[in-house]
Amino acid sequence: MAQGTEVANPNPAANIVRQALIARGLETPVVENGLDNTQKRQQIEQHFEQIMQVLGLDLSDDSLMDTPRRIGKMYVDEIFSGLDYAQFPKITVIENKMKLDEMVKVADICLTSTCEHHFVTIDGSATVAYIPKTKIIGLSKINRIVGFFARRPQVQERLTQQVLCALQALLETDNVAVSIDAVHYCVKARGVQDESSHTRTTALGGNFKSKPETRQEFLQGLK
Ligand SMILES: [Zn+2]
Repeated sequence: MAQGTEVANPNPAANIVRQALIARGLETPVVENGLDNTQKRQQIEQHFEQIMQVLGLDLSDDSLMDTPRRIGKMYVDEIFSGLDYAQFPKITVIENKMKLDEMVKVADICLTSTCEHHFVTIDGSATVAYIPKTKIIGLSKINRIVGFFARRPQVQERLTQQVLCALQALLETDNVAVSIDAVHYCVKARGVQDESSHTRTTALGGNFKSKPETRQEFLQGLK
């Protein structure tokens, strides 16, 4: 990271999460290349045009001619927007004044990500739970955090760990659990062409790891 070129992110939650991921070696491997989003869209468009030409596609065809531009926009603004911490959801955690200490579980959060090995879709769902300590978080914010990390080139194991680590940092507790069940289209559509296999990854922290009954309460009911 070049010193002094980075614009400070005004979203404190983004900074907390980023620092926590770096400290635990869980950050996506990224290199600051100095390109702004407009430059990124333009360069992806140019490169994708070349890929299509190499494939022998006719870029003067009106169905294909705008594809490079669409891909540039889609990569930067949509499916890989989670590489940009400026897009991190606005999160406010609030003090746990009600002294809640029972498990809060959000099940079946829809998740679409992209396999970083093949750049094709990972399609699945996440279940996330935590046991409040001093902080609580709006439930929809958990969905947004899952969505943010899903919008990166990913491996499912890292995605699972990143959601865990982000919530542990924001909620100031180790007592967080994340499970993701997903179909990888790189498995379904190519390679072994297994149409029905799912991959389940689970990341457990604190009591979810050390207390069998807490672990059991989280894991039961997962499809
Ligand atoms: Zn893949």
